[in-house]
Amino acid sequence: MITALAVKLGTPFWLYDVSIIKRQIQRLRGFDIIRYAQKANGNISLLRIIRRSGVKIDAVSDGEIARALAAGYRAGGNDLVFVSDVFDRTTLERVVDLCIPVNCGSIDMIDQLAKLSPGHKIWLRINPGFGHGHSKKTNTGGPLSKHGIWHDQLSELGPKIKATELNLVGLHMHIGSDVEYKHLGKVCDAMIESYMKLGMQVRAISAGGGLSVPYQNDYQNAAINHYVQQWNAARLKIQESQMIPVQIEIEPGRFLVAAAGCLIAEVRAVKKVAERYFVIVDAGFNDLVRPVMYGSHHHICFIDSASKLVTGASHQVAVAGPLCEAGDVFTQNKNGTIEFEALPLPKVGDFCVFADAGAYGSTMSSNYNSRTLIPEVIIDGSDVHLARRRQTIKEMLCLENDNHRYFLNIHKDS
Ligand SMILES: *Cc1c(COP(=O)(O)O)cnc(C)c1O
Repeated sequence: MITALAVKLGTPFWLYDVSIIKRQIQRLRGFDIIRYAQKANGNISLLRIIRRSGVKIDAVSDGEIARALAAGYRAGGNDLVFVSDVFDRTTLERVVDLCIPVNCGSIDMIDQLAKLSPGHKIWLRINPGFGHGHSKKTNTGGPLSKHGIWHDQLSELGPKIKATELNLVGLHMHIGSDVEYKHLGKVCDAMIESYMKLGMQVRAISAGGGLSVPYQNDYQNAAINHYVQQWNAARLKIQESQMIPVQIEIEPGRFLVAAAGCLIAEVRAVKKVAERYFVIVDAGFNDLVRPVMYGSHHHICFIDSASKLVTGASHQVAVAGPLCEAGDVFTQNKNGTIEFEALPLPKVGDFCVFADAGAYGSTMSSNYNSRTLIPEVIIDGSDVHLARRRQTIKEMLCLENDNHRYFLNIHKDS
């Protein structure tokens, strides 16, 4: 199938398998509400499939709100929550117009919303004072994090919110990405503490995202079940001290989509450099930036034009892209040091498959080196369809074309 797709669409392209997303959703059914963090992968066709599985959604920008609506999510109810630490002016107007509940990560957001939209539903994103993540860039708690409302400020915030007409729905904590369960579990106690400090009734608490990508299924299932129990216990504690029931939400991004996607590129050169090899493919870090940005590891294999796995003697191989950047290498560690993996040597014309690329792959792509955004293909049962076509060079250039030139009537010294 990969060869057939490559002939039809050209390379590189993204390939997503819906059955894996559905399996991942099932594993989180112990939570009352699963709310997908679409920044991991916001393809509208995928969002539609995720919505039909009963999963609700987050948006972190005006554009993500538009994606959620395009996929059939409704504004105004509980379907869609806007989460951020800040409002830009356009998005503030949008959430007010469409009555989209807002998860506020700063007190300024609360003030700005209270002024414009009495009765608006809000959540509070709390920084519990600690965080974790697979890299320091994905740690979203603790004193070095810009995210959330600092936990110490909650006792003053309670009376302040009561003085507005805002409608508090729940409390939320997201301490980082790809976090071990033993760290995630600590959030439950912090949640109870924050609830006590705030001194207001809540209808929901959210565990945030951060669940790591599953490799060993048995271990993961046990860990998830334990995690659900911990949140259930936190819910019961909070429920005991108030009059209304509390729902538990989880907000996964990568957990739902990472393992469901891969990036397929074509091998275009195999270079021997000293005693080792560079395999150069037609995808670069403008397509998949995670290895360059975080030192993330993606399992790599090569497939020949008959769709057979390339085997044979292993060599020391680094896999690189076509960009004019020495750092455009997919096999590197967190310090940016290039790593050579023991891999069989492919031939020019074979395909290179980067696994676990369904999350933060296409959504982090750019037009760097003036390369166009690549197609996305979805496999859903026996159905294989194109969920995003390749961007054309004309589309990429059209924002700057002559016929869009106009004068701003602003003098440069004004
Ligand atoms: C990014 C993000 C998530 C999802 O993170 P994953 O590590 O992909 O699960 C969830 N909640 C919030 C607020 C986020 O910013």
